[in-house]
Amino acid sequence: MSRTEWRRLFFIALDPLHVGSGERSLGRVDLPIVRDPATQVPKVPGTSLAGLARSNAALLYGKPGCAGQGRADTMDERGHCGQPSCPICYTFGSLRASRQGDETASYAGVVRLHDAHLLFCPVPTSLGPVWVTTPDRLSDAGFSVPEAPGKEDAVVTFDVPAAGIDLGWLLLPVKKRVAVQSVNSSLQGWDWLRERIAVVDESLYGSIVSANLEVRTSVAIDPLTGAAAHGALFTYEALARLSWLFADIILDPYRTATFPKVEKAASNGKDNTGEPLTEPWNGPLDVVRSGLRLAELLGIGGMGTRGFGRIKLAGEVAP
Ligand SMILES: [Zn+2]
Repeated sequence: MSRTEWRRLFFIALDPLHVGSGERSLGRVDLPIVRDPATQVPKVPGTSLAGLARSNAALLYGKPGCAGQGRADTMDERGHCGQPSCPICYTFGSLRASRQGDETASYAGVVRLHDAHLLFCPVPTSLGPVWVTTPDRLSDAGFSVPEAPGKEDAVVTFDVPAAGIDLGWLLLPVKKRVAVQSVNSSLQGWDWLRERIAVVDESLYGSIVSANLEVRTSVAIDPLTGAAAHGALFTYEALARLSWLFADIILDPYRTATFPKVEKAASNGKDNTGEPLTEPWNGPLDVVRSGLRLAELLGIGGMGTRGFGRIKLAGEVAP
């Protein structure tokens, strides 16, 4: 058994992100996104990340049946294979309907993917776009800022000619120019981001972010007339493109079974017998990383056919 490990992953949204709350709301938009209940700041739930990582990794590996919830019944041979040689089932767990004479079992996975929290939110200003964050978020993500803003001002990493900065509808006095220290200087995109950051108090963050979400309107088309269907106009919100998020992954290898290292994809349901993988999978974190990297093409969340959802893994840190 190996030790518990963690990684903190940083993501950049390449498109607007709509991870829906599954509710229709009577508020500003019909289809809202998931928010943290306490701060009202949008987030991407760990369950969404885990489902994404699993289904993408299973697709790359060539065992789509090992994705999803594994709801195979006795009439259906698809579903999680549960084999000890399967890196997907080892990493994310296996849920099997019990069958007579079936030796493969249900077991839990060894990775825990936690919620992805918003770290930097792009906001238009008269000085161009700036990425807004808070001292709490910076410190949760492992970044540091030498001086925190007050309740009603901001600290920024760039020169502000006037007395303040207009973050959308909000004009905030600027207290000071500071430098934010990244937890990892090799994060992709950090070099352009570092000079464009505004730090505000957490109490302002939810309303600044909510006011700067992308809201779009779509309409359903009536298939008979080819025109907009009556009453089918709907609005939905999304985190803006180039938002930054971070999420923690914990590897909890409580299982005594060892990870089945693979260098090749599966072929005809047989593990490690197909085309070579881009990188060998030497542990469960490699499986998760490969799955999440594919989200740079396949995206996460809803409205994918409307061009939403691609996210890029900008980098990671380990303790
Ligand atoms: Zn499997």
